[in-house]
Amino acid sequence: RVAYVNGAYSAHGEAVVHIEDRGFQFADGVYEVWSVFDGRLADFEDHMTRLHRSLSEVKIDIPMSAAALGVVLRETIRRNRVRDGLVYLQVTRGTASRDHAFPADTAPSVIVTAKRLDLAKGQAMAAKGAAGVTRPDIRWGRCDIKTVGLLPNVLAKQAARERGAYECLMYDEMGLITEGSSTNAWIVDEDGRLRTRDTQANILRGVTREAILKLIAAEGIELDERPFSVEEAKRAREVFVTAASSFVMPLVSLDGVKIGDGKPGPIATRLREVYLDQARRDAI
Ligand code: PLP
Repeated sequence: RVAYVNGAYSAHGEAVVHIEDRGFQFADGVYEVWSVFDGRLADFEDHMTRLHRSLSEVKIDIPMSAAALGVVLRETIRRNRVRDGLVYLQVTRGTASRDHAFPADTAPSVIVTAKRLDLAKGQAMAAKGAAGVTRPDIRWGRCDIKTVGLLPNVLAKQAARERGAYECLMYDEMGLITEGSSTNAWIVDEDGRLRTRDTQANILRGVTREAILKLIAAEGIELDERPFSVEEAKRAREVFVTAASSFVMPLVSLDGVKIGDGKPGPIATRLREVYLDQARRDAI
């Protein structure tokens, strides 16, 4: 495997950044993840737009043009011979002697990695449905920025894994679900309404979420963009999560409580199918 680090490609096992990289010391950086189909990037522009927004919100300079970044992403995909998989881009404020305030004259660090994914494995899990758990959301007040400061998300995901679950849905002080540790959360509630939390709230505006919002309109499915509680999720007909890394993944249990009839529901199944079709077709 090969990684891109600050202008050069090197063997993945030997690719390093400096110990005083601010990403390492302060989580002072942002990232994006694209899914890759047939070596091409899904939802390319939307991830790039969100990257620019994240950089702007934390006042890190854009390290290179979107076109140049696209070249680096594709070259990393090519050198790793990834047909289907994920490409990861991280931009930090750069390397400087440790001091909380921004350093003067430091160029951002840019790293890119790519890895293969077994789409058949994800498909098998989606056909069966996955388990979910819930935990309080202990994150900061700017979860709309895709920063590498992911320790609360790491702890949430680990809580899920330790219970044999795929994802942890986090909830706010009102008991309303914010999002998954690395996904956006959706339900088809007991009245059959498709719901997902609005993004005015403290959550990430998922690119997959946005793509699915457009597909829903095209499918003639009505959406109620309104938060829902853990209890509502447990009573729901369907629960599912969306992200570039999992597309649409049905959750068939939550904290051990069976969702609906314990099988992936028709809406999640349909949305996964149409999202995958479109993402594949439009990948560039
Ligand atoms: N929410 C969080 C906290 C995430 O980390 C992610 C993706 O990594 C998402 C939602 C889904 O975003 P996207 O659909 O852009 O991958």
